[in-house]
Amino acid sequence: MKVDTLIVGQGLAGSLLAWELISRGQRVLAVDRDEPVTSSKIAAGIVTPITGQRLVPTWRLDEFWRYAIAAYRRVEIETGEWLFHPVPIARLLAGGTEKQRWQRRLAENGGKHPRGALPLTIDESIFRAGDGGFEMPGAGWLDVPRFLEATRQRLLMRSGWVAAEFDADELEVMPGGVRWRGVAAERVIFCQGWEGNRNRFFDWVPFRNAKGHILDLLCPGAAMETRIVNRAGWLLPLGEGRFRAGATYEWQFEPENATLATVAGCLEVESKLTNLLRVPWTVVGQQAAVRPVIRESRALIGLHPAPDLWGRVGFFNGLGSKGVLNGPFFARQFASHLVEDTPIEEAVDLRRNF
Ligand SMILES: Cc1cc2nc3c(=O)[nH]c(=O)nc-3n(C[C@H](O)[C@H](O)[C@H](O)COP(=O)(O)OP(=O)(O)OC[C@H]3O[C@@H](n4cnc5c(N)ncnc54)[C@H](O)[C@@H]3O)c2cc1C
Repeated sequence: MKVDTLIVGQGLAGSLLAWELISRGQRVLAVDRDEPVTSSKIAAGIVTPITGQRLVPTWRLDEFWRYAIAAYRRVEIETGEWLFHPVPIARLLAGGTEKQRWQRRLAENGGKHPRGALPLTIDESIFRAGDGGFEMPGAGWLDVPRFLEATRQRLLMRSGWVAAEFDADELEVMPGGVRWRGVAAERVIFCQGWEGNRNRFFDWVPFRNAKGHILDLLCPGAAMETRIVNRAGWLLPLGEGRFRAGATYEWQFEPENATLATVAGCLEVESKLTNLLRVPWTVVGQQAAVRPVIRESRALIGLHPAPDLWGRVGFFNGLGSKGVLNGPFFARQFASHLVEDTPIEEAVDLRRNF
């Protein structure tokens, strides 16, 4: 079999890259070990415009948002699946410092809400909103598992998907291309998520991964709320009183327990919920997986920095906790670099960052 690009790992990164390459006329083969639980398979998929303790717009928000929306819409049209749900976020302030910081931001802005934020109305008998808050309209969530499945089906239709464990030691790299088992390709791109430095080509890339827990809930008392509600933790409505809630950031974890949901992790999410909700809920499911973090939540893309040896081997990783927003932009940039030889910007270029 001969393809243009072999993609190792069909999570969010591998899927986004596959769509971009296919749209450039490339033949791709995605190799994925088809695990039941991965970061992409359990992600809430939320895009949060104003984030972090400083309550500032996320990095290059407008640019990435525009591109992400267009990219997901294109996939929706091609697959007939509804994938991206634009939903505002009701951001409740968590008291003390956060409230002061927000008041300072309003004062700096002549008493007006900063760009993109609106005054908040919320039912205080359901939510703990005593310290105020604001609403973010330019937000939403991607149904990531559905996006992955729609992508897999599209790849299967083109004989472009195979379930297998890809062992980098089985890869032959030659000046004109690569070979893996019976497959010859122009290049191979590793999109392995948090295990991205567990192969001989990229074992020098420093990861700082974060395990995260997420819960499935029933909360009939909040069933009328259609916005995502965030106060240190977040609550994502799925309809009919069903919600997802999260998430934890655990920087120390046993790699062999990467997808094990622990009591401590679940209790941490529940304690976030206690600070958010006044009405009772029932936990009906829990999951955990590891976010691939390299430098904050900035992607890292490019071909191997040893071009003479491994110039046919590439890397797309580091989506962190903002993959849904940032991923489409950098998938396009990388695909265009691979096919049309356009440059990769310095901030995300594997070759210029280590
Ligand atoms: C609890 C939680 C909540 C999150 N919420 C959000 C959110 O709200 N918004 C957001 O933007 N992001 C969120 N994220 C982060 C998001 O999940 C990641 O940014 C993104 O999914 C990473 O995608 P990836 O493709 O790089 O990695 P992965 O999803 O890990 O995909 C890697 C794929 O490669 C496969 N693979 C690895 N090695 C091999 C091999 N040797 N052979 C074959 N296949 C292999 C794996 O099986 C997997 O399918 C969340 C993550 C977690 C854990």
